[in-house]
Amino acid sequence: MLVVGSLALDSIETPFGSVRDAVGGSAVYIAAAASYFLSPIRVVGVVGGDFPRHGLKFLEDRNVDLDGLEIVRDGKTFRWSGRYHYDLNERDTLSTELNVFEKFNPKVPESFRKTRAVCLGNIDPVLQLSVLDQLEKPRIVVCDTMNYWIERKNADLKKTLERINVLILNDSEARLLSREPNLIKAARVIRSMGPSVLIIKKGEHGALLTTEQLVFSAPAYPMENIFDPTGAGDSFAGGFVGWLARTDDMSEENLKRAVIYGSTLASFCVEKFSIDGLRDITYLQIQDRFRSFRELSRFDED
Ligand code: AMP
Repeated sequence: MLVVGSLALDSIETPFGSVRDAVGGSAVYIAAAASYFLSPIRVVGVVGGDFPRHGLKFLEDRNVDLDGLEIVRDGKTFRWSGRYHYDLNERDTLSTELNVFEKFNPKVPESFRKTRAVCLGNIDPVLQLSVLDQLEKPRIVVCDTMNYWIERKNADLKKTLERINVLILNDSEARLLSREPNLIKAARVIRSMGPSVLIIKKGEHGALLTTEQLVFSAPAYPMENIFDPTGAGDSFAGGFVGWLARTDDMSEENLKRAVIYGSTLASFCVEKFSIDGLRDITYLQIQDRFRSFRELSRFDED
């Protein structure tokens, strides 16, 4: 499985504390979450000379293949800063500095070109397309994006959407992209842009999986201790694609399982700051939490 996305230094404020220049980025969270399902996960991305060694080691320890990572020694890593409200579903982006991403021209190593599944993490859609162009027909193409790119690179994003199977968005981004307030109608509009499967994330209220025939509503795991929601969406995407890539099965029942695995990995991610929540989970813990999702919305008819 191949992942392209940002590798970042994040400065985050939550009501419980703040961090500066913590390791983050869409590719980091996606690769770490997916690595619990299959290995190696191959990453294509770029960092500057200031990206800390422990960030790379974190990925290497999870058996992530970094042959497709470019290190620009005299460049600065992508930086993002955000502030969460008391309601952790609300977040303001304070700044986005593209830095080394501004001139990044992704090169997929020869050995990465045949890949079954690819996750196009949140990144400039022009770069997502360039990576797709270098691959030999992957079976599963999942894409994540955000308001930043919907607003700034709308036409390019639409070209990417024509070439993917699954799009993952949050609810406000789905409304922004479709210009439709009702999420079920928005899902139909977005699926007509290309992806046959659309997942709309709703923060702590779960996620909606939609295809032409299916609407499946997955709960989020009820958590008492959420420290840092950063990376929850990416961990969701990583768990989702990781499961699909492992099973190579795009049936509706398996898509539902993948959504629950995505929610499971997201729930581990938010328990700690930055990438720490994805550091040492066991497969047994993942299975336990996956199973407990079933109890959340099961009820008897009488
Ligand atoms: P999430 O909380 O899953 O939506 O993702 C948060 C991660 O996305 C952070 O680690 C950021 O570094 C990264 N990020 C934020 N904005 C962008 C952007 N415009 N392009 C690429 N990555 C971004």
